[in-house]
This record gives sequence, C-alpha cells and structure tokens, in this order.
Amino acid sequence: MKITEVITHPLRASISNAFYYSQGFYPAREAVLVELRTDEGLTGWGQCSGAPAAIPPAVAGVYAPLLQGRDPRDWQVLWHTLGGLRGGHYGVISGLEIALLDLAGKASGVPVSRLLGGAFRNRIKVYATGLYRLQRWESLDAWREGLVEEALGYKAEGFSATKVKIGFVPRQDVALVHALREALGPEMGLAVDANCAWDVATAVWVGRGIEGAEIAWYEEPLPPTDLEGYREVRRTVAIPVAGGESLAGLHPFREMIATRAVDVVQPDIIICGGFSAMARIQTLADAHHVRLVPHCWGTAVSLAASLHFLATIPDASPSITPTEPLLEYDRSENPLREDLLLTPLRQTGGYLPVPEAPGLGIELDPQALARYRVED
Ligand code: CA
Repeated sequence: MKITEVITHPLRASISNAFYYSQGFYPAREAVLVELRTDEGLTGWGQCSGAPAAIPPAVAGVYAPLLQGRDPRDWQVLWHTLGGLRGGHYGVISGLEIALLDLAGKASGVPVSRLLGGAFRNRIKVYATGLYRLQRWESLDAWREGLVEEALGYKAEGFSATKVKIGFVPRQDVALVHALREALGPEMGLAVDANCAWDVATAVWVGRGIEGAEIAWYEEPLPPTDLEGYREVRRTVAIPVAGGESLAGLHPFREMIATRAVDVVQPDIIICGGFSAMARIQTLADAHHVRLVPHCWGTAVSLAASLHFLATIPDASPSITPTEPLLEYDRSENPLREDLLLTPLRQTGGYLPVPEAPGLGIELDPQALARYRVED
C-alpha cells in the first residue's frame, strides 16, 4: 500500500454563544484535518494543531513529500521520518501520524488500540470541561448562576468530575469556585484551569483561597515556560498542580516531569506529536509517578484518537482500588466535535466508548466536511 495524496481540510464553524477563557475569546471553532489517500482506496484521517493558516503550506511544502509513496503500515518509522523525535511542526506531525495509524489499522482490519498492543477497556472515563464565561452574561451574578446551573447539568448527566475556567479576577474566581463546590456537594470532582493567567504570587493567593473546596487539580496557574514557578506553587499550595497541554516533543515533557513541576501532566495528542509521542510521555510519567490526564479540546477526530490511546493504558498503581485513565471531554459549543461524524461519539454516565471499527473507527460525514470547509 502506498500513500498517493495528502490533503488538508481547514474547517471553521460559527457558534451561537461566544465564550471567554482567561486568554481569549471564542466567536467560532476552527480546526485543520488531514486526509491521507492510498493506491488501495483506503483513506486515513488526522487532526493537526497550530495556527490554521500555517498548516496547509507546511503540509504541502514540507511534510507531504516525506509521505508520498510510503506504506502507512510503517507508521513508527514514518513518525521518525517526519521528525517525531528530532523536531519540526509538531502540530502537523501529530495530525499526520494519527492519519497513518488510522490507515494502518484499516489496512490490518483492527482498531488503533489493538494496533498499539490491545485495549484494557472499551470505554473511557471522561470529565466535563466547560464552565466558560459566556459573552452574554453581563453581571457577576449571571456568571455565577449560569455556571452553577451548567455544573449541575454535568452532574445530572452522570459525569463524576468537571472543570471550571478561572484566571479572571482573583477574588471573584475564589468566590466562584466555592459557590460551585457548595452547589455540587462533596462527591463530584472539580478542577480549576487558569490558562496561564497568573504570576506566582497570584497563583499562590488563589490556590490557598480554594484549598478548602477539595479541588482535583490546579491547571496551568502559570505559563509553562516558568517551571520553577510551577514548583513553587506545588510546594506552597495543597492542591495537585497540572499542566503541559501546549508542550510538544519529548524534551519539554522530560523537563516538566523529571523536575517535578506538575502532579498531573496533560499532553494533547494533536499537539505533542501524536500516538508515538504520547506513549513516550506516558513512560516518562510512569517512571516518575506522575499522573497523565490527556488534554483534548478538538474535533471528533482528536477525541477518537485520545480514546484509543487511553484504552491501551493500564489502571494506575496495583491496588484494590485502582484509578482508571481519565480524559478531558470538552462540552463547550463546538459543531466540529458534534457534527463531523456519521455516527457521533456519545457519552453515557460519564464515559465515552472506544470506537471498535478498524483504524480510528470513525466515519467522517462528507456533507459536514463540505459545510465547514474554508478555502485554503
Ligand atoms: Ca487547559
């Protein structure tokens, strides 16, 4: 089997309720998918990450020629050819490697999880990421009431944990987190995410302010370039510290994990370098007894890839009450997550199924692709 064409699909979907996090504002959702075609008629799909306008030229000019004529079943070799260990545009390398595995699985008639060595489970526990600030909420009361209602909705749907966006005004954030904990009761997991908004002093002040609210983890209190700052927050605040979603390639993760900057490392399969990078980061995390909870905030393609990866990871620590792997499940408005598949991935009781068909086990809807496609 030979790869004959490498096609990029830049997508954009408008949303009805624009929302904020601490670093920006989302009036729409964007993504770039990549499609590999072969001489045997099989196609493989992946999702890239990074600035959408930069991806099609990088694929066409640099990466597609490396894959032309190659056999996708050599995905591990091709990951090195693309620069998986050496470096490059990891957002592109990730998408292409995911598409290679999709093809390799389809060629062998097995799901990607089996290609990687087998699945421990056929469903993955997910937590609900949402609780953003909506543009239409004009007062603090509307913000708090809206978030409490949203969080209670996740609880009613069966999610065992959710995550709230903070990083706005420290005093308001602390009050909001306590309001959420009070509304949710003691059982439901609640994580907070500042999206790199603060300096060490503010991160410590907020962290101490929410220590009593039983927080599952304190995500990206600082930019990931300040690992010494992360270590200071870890030493000072009695909440597990999380980060790493924007890191790519092996060495930034080695630095973050081996220097104990985080308790929970959060690689994203479309950012860090694909399945091959995820497996290596998992090994680093295992060796240092750091928990790995993948970041996932993309389309149905990156969601399916993340599900296959976590299916292959054993429960953490041999005990009679082991912890099963956990995946981020974005619940913010995103038609590119909900509408792209002919058979959508649906959560029940806080779990998503691991697709069982060959490859990624998903089928893209050509009409949806055409509807959201922007010209590159
Ligand atoms: Ca995050």
